[in-house]
Amino acid sequence: MSTSTPSKPEQATAKAGKPQTYGNYINGRQVKSESGETFASYNPAKNDEVIGYFPLSTANDVKAAVDAAHKAFPAWKATPAPHRAEIILKAAHLLEARKEELAQTMVREMGKVLKEARGDVQEAIDMAKFMAGEGRRLIGQTVPSELPNKFAMSIRQPLGVVGLITPWNFPVAIPSWKSLPALVAGNTVVLKPASDTPLCALMYVEILNEAGLPPGVLNLVTGSGSKVGNALIDDPRVHAISITGSSEVGRKVAGRCGELMKKITCELGGKNAICVMEDADIELALEGALWGAFGTAGQRCTAASRVIVHKDLYKDFCDKFKKRTEALKVGYGLNPEIEVGPVVNKEQLETVKKYVEIGKAEGAKILCGGNAITTGDCANGYFHEPTVFIDVKANMRIAQEEIFGPVTAVIPVGSFEEAIEVANGTEFGLSLSMYTQNINRAFKAIEELESGIVYINAPTIGAEIQLPFGGLKQTGNGHREAGSACIDFYTEWKSVYIDYSGRLQKAQIDTDSLLAAE
Ligand code: NAD
Repeated sequence: MSTSTPSKPEQATAKAGKPQTYGNYINGRQVKSESGETFASYNPAKNDEVIGYFPLSTANDVKAAVDAAHKAFPAWKATPAPHRAEIILKAAHLLEARKEELAQTMVREMGKVLKEARGDVQEAIDMAKFMAGEGRRLIGQTVPSELPNKFAMSIRQPLGVVGLITPWNFPVAIPSWKSLPALVAGNTVVLKPASDTPLCALMYVEILNEAGLPPGVLNLVTGSGSKVGNALIDDPRVHAISITGSSEVGRKVAGRCGELMKKITCELGGKNAICVMEDADIELALEGALWGAFGTAGQRCTAASRVIVHKDLYKDFCDKFKKRTEALKVGYGLNPEIEVGPVVNKEQLETVKKYVEIGKAEGAKILCGGNAITTGDCANGYFHEPTVFIDVKANMRIAQEEIFGPVTAVIPVGSFEEAIEVANGTEFGLSLSMYTQNINRAFKAIEELESGIVYINAPTIGAEIQLPFGGLKQTGNGHREAGSACIDFYTEWKSVYIDYSGRLQKAQIDTDSLLAAE
């Protein structure tokens, strides 16, 4: 943590070399925090490389951002939705033009490998195109009235200023999932990004502004979760909060929003599972398990941190899984050959190491991996070997708690029914997958798996933005991101009745006389 006074903020770019000092983004420009203090964002693969310095903001900085968003709201709300959408479409094209720059910045700031970082930016591009289309829909309803000469419809209206709190694991995609539907629906936004990935978020916000958002419509404030987050939640002009993060933080934020009667959507932790039945295509399942467990070094909310395998192919599966896991190339993600990057920071590495010890103490066996990597190209980063535990029991902590690292637990089961029971047997419900070639089992799994997302013959990761995204149980509080479904969170329904009969008509009462007259 640095406490130096920031120099004049420069535009956010991915220039290597001497790290720049950046500002918050308020009312169409970068501004310094009133605190004058900054924190550093580091490269998790080379922890002596500072990516940039960012404001350690105060409650007054949040107030300034909310002031700007509040002031910008009436004109933005009055802008026709198709015009708002045009700006978002332009942003899609700007994101496309800067995709490589953003992706490389993401590798340096967050650690995911280049191919995946490009995918993260692509997700924001897809979302921008999809939401641009939504600007010409924002669908309401017209329904028949029970009374004559009366028209009944519902329309959507924006909420006002919304506060968005985002994690580091999808540093561009998640800010886009939240901000783009909010903006197309006519809300103004204050975004508080994770402190591990502020540069990615700032670049994203600047691109949206460059696309033509009026000043104040989309603002960004960096700093500590509790200080910035709480100031945002507590400001009475902020009408809704959308947070993606850990269940622990989500519960706190939801609790406070509940006290304030504030609309809140939580997208939280997961303990996802791939089930591999005895009739599965084993090669396909192995590929899926490898990608699901170790993509993004296991730091996806949808990561396959459990692999539930039928006993008839358990030994064969474990032998092959070991070979493939050991062949994964771990290292700095800017090298295109690398398949698994570092975890995001020291704390995350310590969590992974702690869970490896917990797994051993619980009696699970390490099939491969199990150690942090501290040599060669990995010596200055937060690297951990892709790790597979086998002979795991469904109730062990490593099979119940989110680890968020390159560790997966293989659990043997004796039947399809047991696989479903084990898959459903955690407090989370985000993404579950079934590998089987039996169509009846596939449909049974779709029906019985308790999660917001189900995959058949594909791993637990890889959602597309045109369908709803979110989870059940402790993973979320019932709302969905992405797809057209996400618009529901960012709009209020208004029901409108237009009586053109010229007389007082009483619903539920006059209908009796109408029926009697027939
Ligand atoms: P985190 O909970 O530590 O932080 C998330 C955000 O909340 C950050 O911006 C943080 O600064 C902020 N925050 C922290 N304390 C706060 C407080 N008291 N008040 C307000 N804001 C606060 O999570 P993380 O480590 O950034 O991300 C990893 C977690 O996110 C994992 O649990 C993962 O499963 C989850 N996640 C969920 C989804 C989903 O869609 N379900 C997607 C991605 C990540």
